[in-house]
Amino acid sequence: MKNISTDELNEQFKVLTLENALKQLVDIFDGQKIVFSSSLGQEDQVITDAIFKHNLPIQVFTLDTQRLFKETEALITETEQKYQKNIVRYTPNKTAVQDYISTEGLNGFYESIEKRKKCCYIRKIEPLNRALKGAHIWITGIRQEQSEFRKNMSLFEYDAERDLMKFNPLLAWSTEQLWQAIKTNEIPFNPLHQKGYPSIGCEPCTRAIKPGEDERAGRWWWENQDQTKQECGLHIPLKKEKLNG
Ligand code: SF4
Repeated sequence: MKNISTDELNEQFKVLTLENALKQLVDIFDGQKIVFSSSLGQEDQVITDAIFKHNLPIQVFTLDTQRLFKETEALITETEQKYQKNIVRYTPNKTAVQDYISTEGLNGFYESIEKRKKCCYIRKIEPLNRALKGAHIWITGIRQEQSEFRKNMSLFEYDAERDLMKFNPLLAWSTEQLWQAIKTNEIPFNPLHQKGYPSIGCEPCTRAIKPGEDERAGRWWWENQDQTKQECGLHIPLKKEKLNG
């Protein structure tokens, strides 16, 4: 294990292919817990393919909010069967969900941003925090093209709140590159992508987008279209610091 800064990592990894980047990551952070959060979107499927095909010691997990599209649920099973690997499902706390439904209603999140954030906390953030417990590296499928908000992100970012390093290996990938990789490697993908859903979250909170709209415009579409409000809190602005790697 050696001392390495986010700037050094960003410099070193910017020239690597996805597969080499993941292998290098495993090498540098040997013995550390590396996890990958997948929402089964096209980006995540490309990363999952690289991890599973090369048998890399990286845990692939998903947040099963129990409000997912049936297509997403089917894709989890299809992906596990194709690679003969397990995608770990983190589900929300049952009591917290019941309390939310009792006080706000099943779809209370349509009524205000506060109620939406409360639902996202119960169904996503708290399970995510559980999934990231003890993790040193968190891999994500974030791309700069997805939204204005994500344009300012870096390959590696230190998450001070969770005290871990985030790695966004597809950050600079174009949509064309992504689909070429899916086609070339015959990677299973969500059929909703072909019906106008570039970004897929929970079923009641995701709609298809119109031509020219931001990729994340279909998420929580009824709210003010401030970019930061199209994030559920999983990917907040982060500080760059040094980390033992
Ligand atoms: S995306 Fe919608 S249903 Fe899913 S956790 Fe957030 S508010 Fe709840």
